[in-house]
Amino acid sequence: MKSVNPATGETIATYPDHTPEQVQAALHAAHAAFLTYRRTTFAQRSGWMNAAADVLERRVEELARLATREMGKTLEAARQEVRKCASACRYYAAHAGDFLAPEPAQTDADDAYVTYQPLGVVLAVMPWNFPYWQAFRFIAPTLMAGNTGLLKHASNVPGCALAIEDVLREAGFPAGVFTTLLIGSQEVEAVLKDDRVRAVSLTGSEGAGRAVSATAGAQLKPAVMELGGSDPFIVLPGADLELAAKTAVTARTINNGQSCIAAKRFIVHADVYDAFTQAFVAGLNALKVGDPEADDTDVGPLATPQIRDDLHAQVQDAVNKGARVLTGGKRPGGPGNYYPVTALDQLTPEMDVWTQETFGPAALIFRVGSLDEAIELANATSFGLGSSAWTADPAAQRRLTEELEAGSVFINAMVASDPRLPFGGVKNSGFGRELGRHGILQFVNVKSVSIG
Ligand code: NAP
Repeated sequence: MKSVNPATGETIATYPDHTPEQVQAALHAAHAAFLTYRRTTFAQRSGWMNAAADVLERRVEELARLATREMGKTLEAARQEVRKCASACRYYAAHAGDFLAPEPAQTDADDAYVTYQPLGVVLAVMPWNFPYWQAFRFIAPTLMAGNTGLLKHASNVPGCALAIEDVLREAGFPAGVFTTLLIGSQEVEAVLKDDRVRAVSLTGSEGAGRAVSATAGAQLKPAVMELGGSDPFIVLPGADLELAAKTAVTARTINNGQSCIAAKRFIVHADVYDAFTQAFVAGLNALKVGDPEADDTDVGPLATPQIRDDLHAQVQDAVNKGARVLTGGKRPGGPGNYYPVTALDQLTPEMDVWTQETFGPAALIFRVGSLDEAIELANATSFGLGSSAWTADPAAQRRLTEELEAGSVFINAMVASDPRLPFGGVKNSGFGRELGRHGILQFVNVKSVSIG
């Protein structure tokens, strides 16, 4: 496996793939560790998890620079990501015991209650876009519940993958509780089929989700699927247009535009279309695209040349079929996978971007004539991850909250993940939930106990 700096194209480091023997040893260690780790108390696990938060906070600069060099996010965004991981560790360290406390039940027995017990070894298959956060939002609840974890991270972030293992080791978790596997995607199936692996969590594309959930289904193993999105960002008359436009800029370009919950389709009422679009495009034009390690950079390069090629092909397809380019749209020469912030409107259903996810800083702007039309267009996608809507009207807010087909609705705010709120999607954005209490309930045995 290779780490390639997306800003320069230089290979930073190479890592040998784990051999089949190493994978078997990791499976054995994870299973053996589970047999004792399951008996540890919440207090012990909280101690290790809080220590992991301390390590993350202490090593923030080193970890942030590693992520920036492997996948191109700005250094400041990488620092925020590492700190957010620490917050998730502290959140589950504080709350896991309450979330999984036995619940008394009233039955005819002398005593009855529901208890939550760990499942065993859980496999995580994770993407590169938030190389730490995606992993830690799996790790914190899964390990606090008493499971052990194996991580197959994306092949372009092996340095981050090994750093995560190192952080948990330094925090004091017992050997085998968490292990990184440096394996390719074609080896996931065999690992998931192993009897010692009891469940899988995947964050990634729809294709990866279909492949891994098919294996999980055939093996009757529980799965959480966090897949792609094409989130709507709806702007209606009466909204705070200045704030909406400013937030739209961040919502589209966060993480260099490579976020599952980035706002991707801006659905704007005709009455405010010109005012919103003008402010939005002006905001996009004010961003600085450049070296992700520079302090004044807003948008760094895309993670791989392929991602840039794919995005540019989508933009060109739309332009060839009649879309209007409001800004950007031209692929620069020179080293690095840079792509300008781009905005397109006058879009039609035959364009690829109408149905596909755009994983980069390209905004699609749609004009609608009513709230009904806005909801219909927002839902006219195979995805259903997040949604954001801007209106001061309580009746419209209620309809949007109830009728948008998505795992979350943020009114007058952009979609963001938060350890305190469950996170996930419907339709082709996947199933199951991470974060919040719902997240920790995904990988436990809900065991009914009846005595006498
Ligand atoms: P990806 O290509 O699907 O890769 C994600 C992970 O799955 C990687 O570890 C990858 O390994 C592995 N993988 C790919 N194909 C596989 C297969 N057939 N069998 C087993 N494993 C497989 O996705 P990506 O390009 O890295 O990430 C971008 C996608 O993730 C976008 O669609 C984005 O919206 C989505 N995403 C969703 C969420 C969410 O919470 N819903 C969050 C972030 C990202 P290799 O790297 O070795 O190929």
